[in-house]
Amino acid sequence: MESLQDVIHRTWGYDTLRPLQAEAMQAVVDGRDSVVVLPTGGGKSLCFQAPALIMEGTAVVVSPLIALMHDQVDGLVDAGVPAAYVNSTLSPDERRRTANEVRSGRVKLLYLSPERLTTERTLEFLAEVRPSFFAVDEAHCISEWGHDFRPDYRLLSVLKERFPETAVHAYTATATEQVRRDIVRELHLRAPAIHVGSFDRPNLVYRVERRSDRSAQIRAVVERHPDDSGVVYCIRRADVEEVCAQLVEQGHKALPYHAGLADEVRRRNQDAFQRDRAKIIVATVAFGMGIDKSDVRYVVHAGAPKSLESYQQESGRAGRDGLEAECVLFYSDNDFRTWRTLQQDLPPQALAGAMALLQGIEGYCRGVDCRHRALVEYFGQRLAGEKCGACDMCLDEAEFVDDSLQTAQKILSCVVRLRESFGGDYTAQVLVGSKEQRIVEKGHHKLSTFGLLQEHDKRQVRDWIEQLVGQGCLVKGGEYGVLQLTPDGRDVLSGTYSPRLLKAAVRSGRGERGRVRKESKSGKESWEGVDRGLFDALRAWRRTRADERGLPPFIIFGDAVLRDLARYRPSTQEALMQIKGIGQKKRGEYGAELLQAIIAHCRENGLGTDVQEM
Ligand code: ADP
Ligand code: ZN
Repeated sequence: MESLQDVIHRTWGYDTLRPLQAEAMQAVVDGRDSVVVLPTGGGKSLCFQAPALIMEGTAVVVSPLIALMHDQVDGLVDAGVPAAYVNSTLSPDERRRTANEVRSGRVKLLYLSPERLTTERTLEFLAEVRPSFFAVDEAHCISEWGHDFRPDYRLLSVLKERFPETAVHAYTATATEQVRRDIVRELHLRAPAIHVGSFDRPNLVYRVERRSDRSAQIRAVVERHPDDSGVVYCIRRADVEEVCAQLVEQGHKALPYHAGLADEVRRRNQDAFQRDRAKIIVATVAFGMGIDKSDVRYVVHAGAPKSLESYQQESGRAGRDGLEAECVLFYSDNDFRTWRTLQQDLPPQALAGAMALLQGIEGYCRGVDCRHRALVEYFGQRLAGEKCGACDMCLDEAEFVDDSLQTAQKILSCVVRLRESFGGDYTAQVLVGSKEQRIVEKGHHKLSTFGLLQEHDKRQVRDWIEQLVGQGCLVKGGEYGVLQLTPDGRDVLSGTYSPRLLKAAVRSGRGERGRVRKESKSGKESWEGVDRGLFDALRAWRRTRADERGLPPFIIFGDAVLRDLARYRPSTQEALMQIKGIGQKKRGEYGAELLQAIIAHCRENGLGTDVQEM
């Protein structure tokens, strides 16, 4: 029997495994039920695909969406793996043919939707062919606590009843304990091995900015990535239409995606994005699980999402190939109000939960600490090291007010003078010295803190108040958001703790507030030694080949492979074998062409080939 290592090398061209892949595969080979939680891009598919190849029989993979099934099977077949799916897109004839192939033992991986898998007919068929194991992909769909609950997933409890001897393995990127417990319970897993990976995505650069000029701010991100694929998420459909139209007007190839569009239009737009015919998709959260495009280089949120869970999911669609990618969140106070309004009709218990989640994301937006740390800690994990080198805070891009402590003290003492009985708006007005009627009526124009920040704009002061809430110096109480000091707030007043207040977002023409963007470590490394001209040439070649074959380009080769080719510039088959991520079948199929393209480009541009280790 071929070893796992050999099969992975031969088929996928990988020499090393990602964290927990080895452990996850071991559980499959041992036939022990398992739950594997790895972040998006962590490499979950390999955990069941590789063992399926060395085990006897056919592995059955449960997948929630036809689009996902198609991409995975296309990718496998292109790598020379006998894989198939059965779903409504097949004719009865094709279905019969596939069934026969499975019976003959040729198919190593069979993809099915949960509703098809659990029909009596399919169950009987599988009893006959005896699957090597079941792999349940996107397993969080089984939990009401997940963000993609699918009632059909509940039917999967029948697997352990009908196939008590066959192992069931569940895979998800959803981190919460609750979801994990639901998966184990609903699938009736027996003493499963549980592997939970780190939720940090070091290749993603996180940035958060207060929204001032939406169009200009989004444009700035898009123009930092002229030839790359990106996703822009909006809260509402109307925003999708507007942002999309603006991008198109600015000359970018953008398409909209939201639940208000006809199925056909949505499918077409998603397809154009998958196939690199449209570079940008502007979408509501309706655009989600169906995309497994690995080379999304940026995800912009034009408005704050409703929770950090959602943010992790949506931003996580960037950089699945492990290469650097950027996640930018633009928020305004209005976004949080919008979410409160949109969710106000939830039943009381759900409402309380939703409001707590909203506070999580609000804290993230207004926070001034490392974004990677904030995210990972929210999900109950720890981040090693002081500075991540991949967020606006650690890259020192954010500009803080010089005398943050003094400014904060002025604000907090005003809250105290107002007897902790007023909200943010009112407090800001007192601080900037407004002689509004109600202030005069209450005699607050005589307070010592009246007009203490009169040289600043009211919006700016209001913003600092929110930042102090975000940093835990103030809390908002009751229906009217009355400001109250926390113990940390008292430490600020006594000067033993200093918060950091961000400077205002200046409304500049480009919405960039003159910030310097710095490249992250992973960004620098992944481009080191890469000839961009050759990379672009190879990308164009990939696009042509993909079009000919009717496949999304990233299925032929990921960006990581193209960058390595443009870095090491192999000119012989032996040298080509050293490039990670090209398996045997693809080397046979595309190798000669690649070598030709590389040699020609290097000759024309006077570049050396066969670069040794850098
Ligand atoms: P997930 O399903 O966890 O989001 P995927 O299975 O789609 O992640 O894998 C993400 C990317 O990582 C894919 O492009 C895949 O080819 C690549 N990948 C997976 N395992 C490895 C590995 N051991 N070495 C290099 N690349 C890998
Ligand atoms: Zn950081």
